[in-house]
Amino acid sequence: MQLSDSIKNLLVMFSPPPEITISEHADKYRYLSQEYCAEPGKYHVSRTEYLREIMDSVCDAEIEQTVVMSSARVGKTTAIENILHYYVDVDPAGGILIVQPTKDASDYFSKVQLASMIRDNATLRNKVFSNASDDTLGHKAYPGGSIDIVSAGSPSGLSGKTKRLILCDEVDRYDDSCGEEGDPVSLAIKRSSTFFNRKIILTSTPKVKGSSRIEAAFNSGDKRYYHIPCPHCSTFFNPRWENIKWDKSSDGSIHYPDTAHLECPNCNGRINDAQKNAAVRSGKWISTAESKIRSYHLWEVFSPWRLIQETVADFLAAKNNSETLKTFVNLSLGESFEEKVDVQDSSPLYNRKENWSDILPAGALVLTSGIDVQDDRLAVQVVGWGLNNQSYIIDYKTILGRPDDIQTWQRLDSLLQRKYKHATGNQLSIASAFIDSGGHFTSEVYNFCKDKEMRLVYPIKGQGKDGTPLFSLAKSRNDAGVRLVYCGVNNCKSILYSRLKIEEPEQNGYIHFNSTLDFSYFEELTAEYLAIKYVNGRETREWRKIRARNEALDTYNYALCAVEMLDPDYEFLKSHLHPTIQGEIPNTEKQKQSPALTIVQNNNGWGSSQRW
Ligand SMILES: [Zn+2]
Repeated sequence: MQLSDSIKNLLVMFSPPPEITISEHADKYRYLSQEYCAEPGKYHVSRTEYLREIMDSVCDAEIEQTVVMSSARVGKTTAIENILHYYVDVDPAGGILIVQPTKDASDYFSKVQLASMIRDNATLRNKVFSNASDDTLGHKAYPGGSIDIVSAGSPSGLSGKTKRLILCDEVDRYDDSCGEEGDPVSLAIKRSSTFFNRKIILTSTPKVKGSSRIEAAFNSGDKRYYHIPCPHCSTFFNPRWENIKWDKSSDGSIHYPDTAHLECPNCNGRINDAQKNAAVRSGKWISTAESKIRSYHLWEVFSPWRLIQETVADFLAAKNNSETLKTFVNLSLGESFEEKVDVQDSSPLYNRKENWSDILPAGALVLTSGIDVQDDRLAVQVVGWGLNNQSYIIDYKTILGRPDDIQTWQRLDSLLQRKYKHATGNQLSIASAFIDSGGHFTSEVYNFCKDKEMRLVYPIKGQGKDGTPLFSLAKSRNDAGVRLVYCGVNNCKSILYSRLKIEEPEQNGYIHFNSTLDFSYFEELTAEYLAIKYVNGRETREWRKIRARNEALDTYNYALCAVEMLDPDYEFLKSHLHPTIQGEIPNTEKQKQSPALTIVQNNNGWGSSQRW
């Protein structure tokens, strides 16, 4: 007589809980097969101590759902097999459903993993039947239940008989919908709904931030992180990627991965691989949120099979390409990846500096400046502009001093009034300067700009919304007596980043860099990236910082807005600056009468005769 599911469930309900835990069971009985295990033979849970609590949470009567968001190479697959082994051997009632992302993955699990596990473990060998009528690739019977191994893409596989234990592996690789039936994870979980003591296990390496199933599941749980004791100060900490350090050359361009080590965030002590592995054996999980769902994050720093320097070497090989970086973040760090659609590497830019000494290159026909105001300093960038949207980074200076100190502004003023020698023998001054007024010192910026509109020195205010024009000048003066320029910063950043990609000096938009610029300038210039973010399923684009300091990026953009507002006639400037064209080297009087003044008057109607 066939027992109905509900009667079976009642029997399961009243069966006493097993006295052995999953980790104890694995330590006692489990043998690892040589086909696919890094260390075949007798299994010892202490080798990957961090898996002990994860496995035991599954057989804890109080816990229904366990989530593991992890990198590769941490022993997750072995943990899944141990869970399976335990439920077949010790607590078989109700059956098991294993969901793999594809048919190939479910076939592999059945043919290779499960088959060799059954062969090498006596406890399974005597129980899992090979009965022709009831033993197929995706179905294995044993006393008390059966294992179904299905693909997340198979509606029939997901809609079969009820199962008490649902194990969904690599959930971030599942399609959004299983045929027309909807979310494969929800469909799988439905199969356990008649069991009050069901077990749900979700595991995966995460993929893209915002659409990652495992990350959403992790965040709905109690978010446990593994903490290890520092061998120097004994403080427990959760090792993060930022705690891994390695040496670099003084200009930051050469990396030495063989110096990689973990650094204690408390005492800054160096922790090598052997010390780290010992600390992992004494580690503990700490939850960071309240939830009935257990959720764990694991990455390869805990793995006994990975040297810290291997992780760093992988990072260095991957970092310059968003596709390889995504793989690194997912598979090594066990974290979801924010799509960085526009990431610029600083090193190639640094390596193409040009040596102009103190003489402006012939192509730079007009100069503008962008100034960023910080609480303890001003950052000043001077950019030359020429034909074909070419730009020349002439100078990048920091004026140390508080913006509420008048001397700081006096130093800026003399910098802005500096004369630059040009390759043609002329002298160029800064034709316009835009100063950020958005920080803590708005009134100081207004004060400085107030009497300098004739010199085209304007306070600016950044506007972060997409679609904002590059710049717009306020129609009237504000209460402080200045006209604000609004600057569409996203627009500016897109222009800058598209220009940074141009590698041929003759090409339209190429940016030339002066040899006097140091590496930190290039780090600041490339301090942001364009991220794709999903809000309610809709894609939005957002600029985000990679590095804390980005003033070089901001000040280039302010200088760009300044020259766009100036709208110079470069052909005209060129013909007036170049002695070969004009037939003579202009004298001082001629310079006073020459280009920017004319250009400015022609295009924008602002009269000024003081700068030339
Ligand atoms: Zn320490």
